[in-house]
Amino acid sequence: MTVRAEAIAVDNLHKRFGPLEVLKGVSLTAHEGDVIAIIGGSGSGKSTFLRCINMLELPSAGTVTIHGETIAMKKDGHGGLMPSDRSQVQRIRSRLGMVFQNFNLWQHMTILQNVIEAPVHVLGVPKAEAVERAEALLRRVGLHEKRDAYPAFLSGGQQQRAAIARALAVQPHVMLFDEPTSALDPELVGEVLAVIGDLAKEKRTMILVTHEMKFARNVANHIVFLANGVIEEQGTPEAIFGAPKSERLKKFISSIH
Ligand code: ADP
Ligand code: MG
Repeated sequence: MTVRAEAIAVDNLHKRFGPLEVLKGVSLTAHEGDVIAIIGGSGSGKSTFLRCINMLELPSAGTVTIHGETIAMKKDGHGGLMPSDRSQVQRIRSRLGMVFQNFNLWQHMTILQNVIEAPVHVLGVPKAEAVERAEALLRRVGLHEKRDAYPAFLSGGQQQRAAIARALAVQPHVMLFDEPTSALDPELVGEVLAVIGDLAKEKRTMILVTHEMKFARNVANHIVFLANGVIEEQGTPEAIFGAPKSERLKKFISSIH
């Protein structure tokens, strides 16, 4: 059996917003090539969990390790944590590709400019090389002819595919997707799922929050069900959808069919 390296290890992650404890000790390891789908009800902490991985939210306790490097944290004096070394966070975050529900493209930049922005300005890739790579990525997501358009002139599905190309442009260790299709009109969902499905086939490491259960079942090798701030149940798609154990999970699954 080949042992795959750890891409992400989250250990005993806690997150509170004032009195509200959203994550109450979540541990999860993604090995290289894993496609992990996170499911759970609205408000169960799925987005918060993803945002803590790339430090868009600071954990209240626990550790996040990316490619063997643990993000160094220190006490912030208010019962929480803060990074000991901001440049470390910046460096690690720059190699995580994050795709949000609402695309979050820079509206004042063309699609091509969106895709080359981080490689050129954060990673220091020479512009000509960044443009060449960006064009290949845009071709891959079927958007090459839109390279000089501004985001507002694209459909939601096209914008989200551009956002995926932008995330891929930093050659990320891991792709994080937060409900990438839930803001889309139903007829545009398929084109975005197709792009994500292709990435999964390439064995790209991904953590994906989604409401698309059929898709999760097809592309993920591991499903995590979050409820009440903890991992209530996790396992293979067959186990989670075919033979759920916890009452909460059974109820959740029946509620979405
Ligand atoms: P999900 O993505 O599963 O729907 P979230 O992670 O967005 O859930 O939110 C989990 C809980 O944390 C919710 O009750 C939400 O209102 C709360 N929450 C999220 N972000 C913040 C924040 N910045 N400040 C205060 N509460 C927040
Ligand atoms: Mg969310």
